[in-house]
Amino acid sequence: MSARTRPPSTALDSAISNALDSPISNDVLAALPSNERDLLFPQLTLKELSHGERIQGDNQPIEFVYFLNSGTVSVLAAMADGKTVEVGMIGKEGLVGLPGIFGVRRMPHRVIVVQIRGSAFRVGADDLGRILVSCPVLRSEIERYSQELMLQVAQTAACNTTHQVEQRLARWLLMSADRHDSTPFAVTHEVMAGLLGTNRATVSLAAEFLKKAGLINHTRGSVQIADRAGLEAGACECYRALA
Ligand SMILES: [Zn+2]
Repeated sequence: MSARTRPPSTALDSAISNALDSPISNDVLAALPSNERDLLFPQLTLKELSHGERIQGDNQPIEFVYFLNSGTVSVLAAMADGKTVEVGMIGKEGLVGLPGIFGVRRMPHRVIVVQIRGSAFRVGADDLGRILVSCPVLRSEIERYSQELMLQVAQTAACNTTHQVEQRLARWLLMSADRHDSTPFAVTHEVMAGLLGTNRATVSLAAEFLKKAGLINHTRGSVQIADRAGLEAGACECYRALA
């Protein structure tokens, strides 16, 4: 994730943020100049996101765009037999609902699920489409993030078929930690297995391998990074390609 210079907050920015009792952490929202904030922010509603919550269903109408403020969501490829594999991860660097902005109203075989609970600022896709006409910086930020996410999805697809599960698990933990600002965070081996397209026993062995190497600590339902530099060295090249 690239660092950006954040414009100074406006009074309206502060008022809305205070009213919603949540500082604005989303990189796209934070990059906006005051005149664009004044157009967009009154349309935003803060929504709490619970672990496991499905915020976009397979082939369901895309009604809202979510600017993630904390937590992470997974973009899952859904198969006909019900299996899902994570093909993208979105946190406070980005937003959910990109196809809705570009006029696509349904995405078959795609599901968006909350992995680490948090919050998002939500706006109607149609409302955002109208605002975008008058917001060149917001439009540019969304286009930039769209390209970033496309690269991540392509790299993740290659990773899932190329790299060892220990390397992939290290990559996934680092990507989650980056978006969560810290560890530990709550995640079970079963969830990680589903996201990495493998089974729980395989993920448990991989987690134990990383634990014995002193890179992570994990208990039932929680993971903490113990050696960040070591975990980065143990991750596949995909983490560095996407960092
Ligand atoms: Zn990889």
